[in-house]
Amino acid sequence: MKLKTQLIKTVSSLLVIGALVVPPVTADTFTYTRKGGGIFDAWYDSSVSSYGYTPHLDFSRNAWGGISSKVSIGFTTNHRGYSTDEIYVGNSATTNLFGLMVPYKVSWPTNTLATDQKGNAPTSNWDYSVISIYDNSLSAHKLKTWTGITHTTTHELGHSLGLAHTTTHGQIGPSVMSAGSVADRNVNTPNAYDKAQLKLKWGS
Ligand SMILES: [Zn+2]
Repeated sequence: MKLKTQLIKTVSSLLVIGALVVPPVTADTFTYTRKGGGIFDAWYDSSVSSYGYTPHLDFSRNAWGGISSKVSIGFTTNHRGYSTDEIYVGNSATTNLFGLMVPYKVSWPTNTLATDQKGNAPTSNWDYSVISIYDNSLSAHKLKTWTGITHTTTHELGHSLGLAHTTTHGQIGPSVMSAGSVADRNVNTPNAYDKAQLKLKWGS
């Protein structure tokens, strides 16, 4: 048992060193991708301002900018329904669900899911995503703070940019793309690892 722990620790140390020098072998990015690329606009539903989340979403859009020349999330008041992300704030029946990114494909007569189930990774390339932020869940977990909300908004926008959950949690410092840990909820901007993953996905 002791030997096993030691072995895991040694492997972990090697991974940390490896991550600093070269990109990790297993990327924390989705297999599929946003068809139109990493430069697109987001449209806010009226619920965003009525819940008071506009500055949080503006902050998070900007947080993903300036890392890759191929990535920028702008803002538009024009709800196009085919290439623009849609953002909503509301309540969830699942009280530990803070946010959700759902990828959609444009099709006639109704746009269709680009995933087998909401909350799962995309199963095909997608045209736009619908992001929901859950006010009641954030409240229930005392996360309705600037950092608590912006962690969630940056996290969901990261999914929209094709980033999956950080699998090497605890080895690369708190990552905004990690799921579930309290320490990670204290970060609201991409760390060096998140930035490297973004570049791995879209280029520098
Ligand atoms: Zn997530």
